Amino acid sequence: MGHVDPILLPLLSQHGIRLMSAGGSYTRVQKTLRVGEIPLARRTLDVCTRPIFVDGITNCSQCFKCKRTLITLEAGGMIADFSNVFDLRKWSEVRTKYLQDLTWARDPLSQEVLGFARDAGLIPRYGRSTKALTRRIHSRSRAIAHQCVTRVTPKESLTPRPRH
Ligand SMILES: [Zn+2]
Repeated sequence: MGHVDPILLPLLSQHGIRLMSAGGSYTRVQKTLRVGEIPLARRTLDVCTRPIFVDGITNCSQCFKCKRTLITLEAGGMIADFSNVFDLRKWSEVRTKYLQDLTWARDPLSQEVLGFARDAGLIPRYGRSTKALTRRIHSRSRAIAHQCVTRVTPKESLTPRPRH
């Protein structure tokens, strides 16, 4: 909603209620950490794109907004405070994959969260997972290159022609 706030918020404002955007000077991580300090948010925070309503938990803990919020809260040392609004068991199921995906994401929000998670030590700067992934990518690239060479170059052309 942020980009259309200047247009949309005045239109949504009604008698006696004036809506306005705030916090434009904060980054996404800073905003999440500020919200994390509010006691009421620990019982009511709702960031989910696929809300659920199970045992008082409203955030699915697996959509991109939940994951981004959860990794920020975890890196900020606040995740346990939000166990009433997020399913931390579900988060643990997707956490590793999300961290791997985050290392390859190039959008500005993901880059900011990645930097914060790295600074907090959640993602090693040159960890094993990155090396293993790089090895897999190189191995797959070699296999694809080999297939291309095999298709382009028939076997007959690789064997020397008999001389007459
Ligand atoms: Zn969600």
